[in-house]
Amino acid sequence: MSSVLPFARMRVTTDDRMHRPGECAHRNIRLDPRGGIVTCRDCSATLTPFWALTMLADQYAVALTHIERLETRLARADSRILELSAELDCRQPTKDPSKPSST
Ligand SMILES: [Zn+2]
Repeated sequence: MSSVLPFARMRVTTDDRMHRPGECAHRNIRLDPRGGIVTCRDCSATLTPFWALTMLADQYAVALTHIERLETRLARADSRILELSAELDCRQPTKDPSKPSST
C-alpha cells in the first residue's frame, strides 16, 4: 500500500468583481475614526479599509470620466451657440412689406 494519496488537480481562481449582481455594492460607507472600522450604512457589513479605498478610487475615476464627458458636451454646445449667433448676425433684416417704399 502506498503512503502517497492521490490528490486531484485543483484549480484556484480569484473573483475580482467588487460585488455580485443583487448584492449590496456598499457605496454608502461609514468610517469609524476611533477603531479605523469601515462599515456599510446600507447593509452593515464590515469592510476592509483597502476595499473601501479601492471602491472610492474607482468611484472617483468614474466621476472624473463623467466630468470630462460633460465638459466635452458643454464645449460643443458653446461652439454651436457661437455658430448660430454668427449665422444670425450675417442675416439681413427682412423688409416689412406693409411699410410703403420711400421711392
Ligand atoms: Zn452594503
